[in-house]
Amino acid sequence: MGKKIVTAGDRVYLKFFDLEFFHEKAKEAEAVLFPFKSFDDKEFISEIADTDALILIDRQLNKKHIEAMQKCKIVLALEVGYDFIDVETATEKGIIVSNVPTYCTNQVAIHAFALLLSTYRKIKTLMEETSRGGWDYNVSKPLYEITHRKLGIIGLGRIGRAVVPKAKGFDLDILAYDPYIADDIFKLLGVKRCYELNDLLSESDFITLHVPLTDETHHMIGDKELQIMKNDAVIINTCRGKVIDEKSLYKALNNNIIAGAGLDVLEKEPPDKDNPLLNCGNAIVTPHASWYAEDTLERLKMQGMDEVIRVLNGKRPWYSLNPEVLY
Ligand code: NAD
Repeated sequence: MGKKIVTAGDRVYLKFFDLEFFHEKAKEAEAVLFPFKSFDDKEFISEIADTDALILIDRQLNKKHIEAMQKCKIVLALEVGYDFIDVETATEKGIIVSNVPTYCTNQVAIHAFALLLSTYRKIKTLMEETSRGGWDYNVSKPLYEITHRKLGIIGLGRIGRAVVPKAKGFDLDILAYDPYIADDIFKLLGVKRCYELNDLLSESDFITLHVPLTDETHHMIGDKELQIMKNDAVIINTCRGKVIDEKSLYKALNNNIIAGAGLDVLEKEPPDKDNPLLNCGNAIVTPHASWYAEDTLERLKMQGMDEVIRVLNGKRPWYSLNPEVLY
């Protein structure tokens, strides 16, 4: 038998339906694609035991799964985030783990900005007014100009950096908090560096989150942090839902501790129908859509499959998250 590529995670099939491109592309490595659609863990383990490559969106891959894989060369997160993969165990087993890091960078930055403007300009409140037959802008009072307000970026990586020129276009003053990058990046971007998260929280009028989900960033915004923010501040989250403690956020929005939230990600996706944030007057929620445009969808499948085929054909991966495996 030739090589085997397994896909898993229901969002793979929601995004790519018939997987026609994936089946065709697999042939370039003399491989056959096996779409795995069950939720049964035992079946999953048996399916991946003899696979040469595994492509996942948001499906947990833990130690037990990785230890069962006998000859896998590459695990690909077919997205930017890869917090659902046990990279450490994969590294110990010599399996390359890659993601698709740049296919939607600019698109997410634009969506974050769309949420920021909609939330700050109270578009939801204004639309509710017109859809019930009213025509009175007073429902949005008070509103203030955006110019020269302060935007705080938490996580100044690819997407955080792509937010910067958009913010400059609106004449915002920009500050950022990211303890893992050097001073010169902030200087090059013309962004004020905050060495303490609390400084960014207390100074910003708008805060946008662009960190990966890690033990450190899990609930990095909770009661304490929301209390430090300005009462008229707005928070935007397009990174991972679990970075914000949702219970604390809902409380803060309801008690006017902060003015608004624009959320593309939630702690549980899809959310429970009774998640109060879905019907909260000063929150706008979109269904994990930041990444999406027809163009980015196309790039995602091309770049993702290109990485898998490279590795199966013995070439170096472009986007390895554990390069130590290569040496
Ligand atoms: P990136 O790795 O380029 O940037 C992340 C930045 O966060 C890095 O500079 C890192 O130093 C910084 N960081 C890490 N821990 C931090 C901490 N504790 N405090 C402050 N900064 C910290 O990633 P990216 O491409 O910019 O993507 C960011 C996140 O956006 C991804 O991890 C992914 O989860 C999310 N994302 C969401 C969508 C969507 O559709 N909603 C699409 C793509 C990516």
